Amino acid sequence: MPAVVPSPDQLPIFEELYRPPPRPVRPHLRLQPPLLADLTARQRRAVTFGDGPLLIVAGAGTGKTTVLTRRIAWLIAEKRARPSEILALTFTEKAAAEMQERVDRLVPYGYTDSVISTFHAFGDRILREHALEAGLSDRSTVLSRAEQVIFLREHLFELPLDRYRPLGDPTRFLGALATLFSRARDEDVTPADYQAAARALAERAAASPEDAALAEEAALQSELAGAYETYERLMRSTDRFDFGDQVTLALRLLRDHPAMLAAERRRFRYILVDEFQDTNHAQFELVKLLAGGPRANVTVVGDDDQSIYRFRGAALSNILGFRAAYPRSASLVLNDNFRSRQAILDAAHRLVAHNDPERLEAREGIDKRLRARSAFRRPEPSAGPIELLAFATGSDEADAVAERIGASMRSGRRAGDHAILVRGNRDADPFLRSLNMQRIPWRFSGTAGLYRQPEVRLLVSFLRAVADPGDSVSCYDLATSEIFGLAAEDVTRALNGASRRRVSLEAALREASAHPESSSFSLVALETVQRLLGALDRHRAMSTERTTGELLYHFITASGWLGRLTREAQQTGEERLGNVARFFEIVRRQSALLRDDRLPFLVAQLDTLIAAGDDPSTVEAEVDDGDAVHVLTYHRAKGLEFPVVFMVGLVEDRFPTRDRRDALPLPVELVRDPLPEGDHHLAEERRLFYVGMTRAAEELALTWAADYGGGRTRRLSQFVLEALDLPPATPLGAIRPSAAERLARNDRPTAAAAGPPRPTLADRQLSLSFGQVNDYLECPARYRYAHVIRIPTPASHQLAYGKALHAAVQAFHRRQMRHEPMSLAELHAELDTNWESVGYLTREHEEARRSAARDALARFWNEQQADPARPAAVEQEFAFLVGRDRIRGRYDRVDVEPDGRVLITDYKSSDVRDPATAARRSRESLQLGIYALAWEAQHGRAPDELALHFLESGLVGRSDVSERRLERAQEKVVTVATGIRAGRFAATPATSRCGFCPFREICPDAIR
Ligand code: SF4
Repeated sequence: MPAVVPSPDQLPIFEELYRPPPRPVRPHLRLQPPLLADLTARQRRAVTFGDGPLLIVAGAGTGKTTVLTRRIAWLIAEKRARPSEILALTFTEKAAAEMQERVDRLVPYGYTDSVISTFHAFGDRILREHALEAGLSDRSTVLSRAEQVIFLREHLFELPLDRYRPLGDPTRFLGALATLFSRARDEDVTPADYQAAARALAERAAASPEDAALAEEAALQSELAGAYETYERLMRSTDRFDFGDQVTLALRLLRDHPAMLAAERRRFRYILVDEFQDTNHAQFELVKLLAGGPRANVTVVGDDDQSIYRFRGAALSNILGFRAAYPRSASLVLNDNFRSRQAILDAAHRLVAHNDPERLEAREGIDKRLRARSAFRRPEPSAGPIELLAFATGSDEADAVAERIGASMRSGRRAGDHAILVRGNRDADPFLRSLNMQRIPWRFSGTAGLYRQPEVRLLVSFLRAVADPGDSVSCYDLATSEIFGLAAEDVTRALNGASRRRVSLEAALREASAHPESSSFSLVALETVQRLLGALDRHRAMSTERTTGELLYHFITASGWLGRLTREAQQTGEERLGNVARFFEIVRRQSALLRDDRLPFLVAQLDTLIAAGDDPSTVEAEVDDGDAVHVLTYHRAKGLEFPVVFMVGLVEDRFPTRDRRDALPLPVELVRDPLPEGDHHLAEERRLFYVGMTRAAEELALTWAADYGGGRTRRLSQFVLEALDLPPATPLGAIRPSAAERLARNDRPTAAAAGPPRPTLADRQLSLSFGQVNDYLECPARYRYAHVIRIPTPASHQLAYGKALHAAVQAFHRRQMRHEPMSLAELHAELDTNWESVGYLTREHEEARRSAARDALARFWNEQQADPARPAAVEQEFAFLVGRDRIRGRYDRVDVEPDGRVLITDYKSSDVRDPATAARRSRESLQLGIYALAWEAQHGRAPDELALHFLESGLVGRSDVSERRLERAQEKVVTVATGIRAGRFAATPATSRCGFCPFREICPDAIR
């Protein structure tokens, strides 16, 4: 077959990568967008750059992700690399998923097995693949920062500490120690490096006995170096590792094992790095090591002006380090901006230029000024795209911003076209209140604050109150919560009485309930008290048998609260439900870390986490949700864009914030990168301001107030003066509403701002799994509850059982593929490792189930001993396009017979005991139909046979793949995608369906 000549605009299809199908291509299955047609000349040069190192300096809004994803697709199309030979590294899971999806859409078969991953996930993969060499078991646990603090606390007296463990307050430095150790990891500092630096300092101190400060510093650093060494030893001996370890241990492993490194280098012939300016020293070392010599095929994309995560603001050091590591690298600057109006870009540039000379532009004399290339539907506002608004008070500012958004919506914009950027999580509160007053929907997305959300506080209080009848604070919180709604005055009175008599609030409430005649509660309130006490008793009794997740779930469903939240979500947005779901995830994770996850232990763990500073973020903003104003922190806004942006609270001490240095800074001698001159904190804050400004496409409002409470008059942020080129003493008149206007605000009938109708999903590209397709077909309302609102569901023993069986079978096949047979005892051990004690009715039920699973695996193991077939793939991921929607999943097992026949098998844990049912289930399985479609899309021909393997009975139902079957599967996918896109989520209740539906308690349509 002759080679296909690459077209400049179309992704060519190569024989090895994609064999033409034997029949006309199913029209919906493939989509090949033009690859280069819509790119600028510079973007094209970046995408089609040949071999060798390449630095792309990509300013805000210049299509950085487009360039990276197109480059990956181009490398594949040009046959420079197979998809699996490309490694793309980025920072967040979200960015990696987005990049993966975009690449998948560009390649002809809708899926690549290129590794597109975060640094941490990539390091983790290397460590787990070579766990033995890394000295880790394959069950090691990664600790989050808060868990790291807990770990330090547990081992506090094993650490060789003295000054940093004051006996009067021994945990005072735990957080600072965790931060110091993480910094050391980021800088690729081993305990031996730290010890060497401490020794060198001690020698210097010994040589200058008159220098008392030096002597003290040497003693402190020696203590810290010892603690770091012990921490590392303890982590290894308990099979734990932290986030930093995921990169540094991988790095050390590859350095120490040249054969392993050579294999990884052979594997990845092209490496691409996104957000390069923010990679830390260890991450960059990993890239260099993997890429190889100075002529390596490594492409990095970054912008020093958007660096907001580097240690001590070393924004430039990576980019300069890249040039040093790859002296013959090519570079390209992208400065065609496809987002903002020119005036916004000019102001942002004026601002960031104040960071000179610590900027690439100043250092290298290149032009990084952005040029606006977008056309806008709306004319530019008469006052220009940037407005500076001054207010007398913070509440005037918040009200005015909300009013302006209301007016903007009445002029035809959607709520989601607006963003309010706040510097700190708490700065959002007055704006949220003012938006509420105007009845404008909002979505807050902070970098922290989950535990502060009322709905999450309620859950924490519930758990604490059940665990400890003496915890009056939690009992108070629960009693006055929206679930029980007792009047705060009544409960306060009861609480005062309780403290006089030195009893708990719960005891006082019990007394009131037992002697209503002498209590101060009304009859209605007494009923509520009884309901509260009943709930506490019931859940306390359950807590000895059930896991905390089950207990919590029972509470929110039995109280009817989950149902109320769900109904509320339909009206006002899904944040509260999303936060509840996130808290359930935390409970699940902490349960997994505990040996006994029953209530008292879990509550203690949660308390320690919170005390250790664990402060997870609330639900993240979905940019394309047009129905709510985005209120978010600057760090959260990175990478997003909005037509109208309000940057609020722009006063000194708020933005820039005051410099808060690490309590225990890493000694400068251990910092590998050259540190910037001047005030690095101010420069970093300025870059953050720059990131904020460049989020705005059409309009940018900079707002501030002279009075935010606290008795002092605030000054306008110097960044505003710099951006707008105003002299420092510019008089700025505040917008001061009249007293009547202020009063009217409180009185205003809270009419909803009349915006355009809620947007539908019509323009969205969907990404669906078989499970989602199936849920929609079963009942669209169920799909909505599970996948749109994401309501937490109770732990299900069926699911847990199936997962454990699957995991054991997978492990068996993986070993089989590596020619390392697994014994039955090992197979049973895999089952035990993956076993989760959730959802079972009783211990007896669980034990009976476990014994059934062991029998099933014993049968499976015996069958496998007699069967010479070895799978060609296990748990292999796939994705393909139907129209513009992406269908993704994994094949449990693929066999390719010697004559080339392909069999795809899915393992089932459901109980099927006769061959006829097994065969029918296989014939009718939509899941298998979708797998066949995926195989056809990937390989150009359908598989030859499909099978369901029922593990409990050992029966295998086989079925053929016909054209009709493929068409039917595709029609179903199209039906589902069309329904979701049209927002059709009407319930289709049926007795058989609702009986097993996890949402039956909250679903108004359920048939009981
Ligand atoms: S309870 Fe019934 S109607 Fe409601 S979502 Fe579940 S299956 Fe659909």
